[in-house]
Amino acid sequence: MIVGVKLPTSFGTPFFNVIYAFLGRHDCFILNLTVMDGRGKNTPAIGIDLGTTYSCVAVWKHNRVEIIPNDQGNRTTPSCVAFADDERLIGDGAKNQAAMNPANTIFDTKRLIGRRFSDSEVQEDMKLWPFKVIEGSADTPKIVVSYKGEEKEFLAEEISSMILGKMKETAEAYLGTPVKNSVVTVPAYFNDSQRQATKDAGTIAGLNVMRIINEPTAAAIAYGLDNKPNITGKINVLVFDLGGGTFDVSLLTMSEEGGTLQVKAVAGDTHLGGEDFDNRMVDHCVLEFKRKWKKNLTENKRALGRLRSACEKAKRILSCMTQTSIELDALHDGIDFSMKFTRAKFDELNISSFNKCIETVNACLIDAKMEKSSVDEVILVGGSTRIPKVQSLLQQLFDRKELCKNLNPDEAVAHGAAIMAEKFSGNRNKSFQDFLLLDVNPLSLGVGIKGDLFSVVIPRNTPIPTKNSKVYVTCIDNQSQACIKVYQGERPRSSDNHFLGKFTVSGIPHAPKGAIEFNVGFELDVNGIFTVTSEILSTGKKEKLTIVNENGRLRKEEIEKMVEDAEKFKQEDQEYKKRIDAFNALEDCIYNMKKMEQAVADVSKWMEDNQGASVDEIEGMKEHLESLCMPKI
Ligand code: AMP
Repeated sequence: MIVGVKLPTSFGTPFFNVIYAFLGRHDCFILNLTVMDGRGKNTPAIGIDLGTTYSCVAVWKHNRVEIIPNDQGNRTTPSCVAFADDERLIGDGAKNQAAMNPANTIFDTKRLIGRRFSDSEVQEDMKLWPFKVIEGSADTPKIVVSYKGEEKEFLAEEISSMILGKMKETAEAYLGTPVKNSVVTVPAYFNDSQRQATKDAGTIAGLNVMRIINEPTAAAIAYGLDNKPNITGKINVLVFDLGGGTFDVSLLTMSEEGGTLQVKAVAGDTHLGGEDFDNRMVDHCVLEFKRKWKKNLTENKRALGRLRSACEKAKRILSCMTQTSIELDALHDGIDFSMKFTRAKFDELNISSFNKCIETVNACLIDAKMEKSSVDEVILVGGSTRIPKVQSLLQQLFDRKELCKNLNPDEAVAHGAAIMAEKFSGNRNKSFQDFLLLDVNPLSLGVGIKGDLFSVVIPRNTPIPTKNSKVYVTCIDNQSQACIKVYQGERPRSSDNHFLGKFTVSGIPHAPKGAIEFNVGFELDVNGIFTVTSEILSTGKKEKLTIVNENGRLRKEEIEKMVEDAEKFKQEDQEYKKRIDAFNALEDCIYNMKKMEQAVADVSKWMEDNQGASVDEIEGMKEHLESLCMPKI
């Protein structure tokens, strides 16, 4: 009674993020992944770091990774979508108008994606968001905005798809060719639903997400490729990734001879990052405003939006200066806000989060059974690693060891993703050869047992492939069937973990409680295929079991509908742009005509005043008039 439960994946499996087998040992595997266009030519594949606050896209070109700048010339793009009266804005445009249009400017979708509305973290986040989130069907959160005079609802997947679509367009404009194939990164700590929802977002954006890979793993790949000549023997690398909304630590062992990159342990927090630091600053300013003016700023969403963006700017300044000030004219009720902010105050407000990061690093070392002195390289990833206090605490932990700052913390993840995208597209470049990545499962897998307890069958950080089984007994007299619920997570109560699915063991012989034993086996193969087996030990009876996937994934038809909607939005955006371009062209035309009218009047007057002008002068005037009439090329 064995059932193969294929955890939804891209290319078979990214949830357990698997083995990336490279040329040489696992040639055929890679060859299967070669992506060709109709003429048999390799099509470009991009790597996208879909960040909580910023996203970054990169491609392998001219034998190296190129970070692709967006239409504003920026190498990272705000993960932000805004709905204005008559247009949709994505990226810098959306972020720039956020303070003016807070209720319709959506950010942080990475904190919503793949989660349930009732999730306590979603409930907490909602209190801070200026936009509205409501409960949709099956406990899914829906974002509500007003667009073109109508109320519209979006799933987090749809908003993320708009950001991914923008990254796709950025790459297409740069490469001058349509792009479909991509590798998208997620935090190592993302559970199956979050990974799946991210992949769905890619599909809605018109991308073929070849693989979802872990952000720290991508950063380590970038480091590995850049430092290949310097790596001798085995080295242990710790990737410390503190971004806008998530924190990830990964410990990897890299070896030059075997060309392997083995993930030893991952740890982190899907809810810790730069935005928390911004929020603490905002809270502090709100208190200060209340103390000074006896007024509650939190009632004014626009003021809060303006304050948040001023705090974020001040935070960045505090990474290189020891003090700055926040100045906002007419912030609330016509009151100007002005406040000095020191680095010491910033550190004091956030020290508990910084300490939590260090505790997580320690936990990761314990999980990997590694002494901190064995860590050869500490790689910094994510914009928030620029915070001096974070760096000094980390350096203190590693006994003043120099931290590796060779990689740009904002770009390292996209850099690694682009390498993997190129790899999966079949590039046989020497730089990629003999490179094998071994991964672990990031979250424990187990079953729910009596008393809402979680019984772990495969603990987190177990290298894959792996299998394990546990024996369970009936819990009531004459129990004829047992419902086995499969969960993923680290909490002792099963209902606090992420529910993956369930199956029923039937035909249990009548017997007193505890007398019948059945074996539940979990197996994870290299491709992340999750196999569940169940056997009643006294009878040896095995049945065909089916797991019902109830993790709130989008159905195929729903995705298709969203792809259609996304296309409609794109067309609307294009039509809007065309309309604005036409309007501007007409305005230009009127301006030119007026200029001509004025010139005709001026030349007529000149003729009256210069009856005795020379031939050259008269012809010069004629040429001048004609040049104004000529269409500009
Ligand atoms: P990421 O998700 O890696 O793009 O990181 C974005 C986060 O890094 C945001 O919260 C930024 O405010 C933060 N960040 C970027 N630059 C700095 C800096 N110089 N100092 C502090 N935080 C920064």
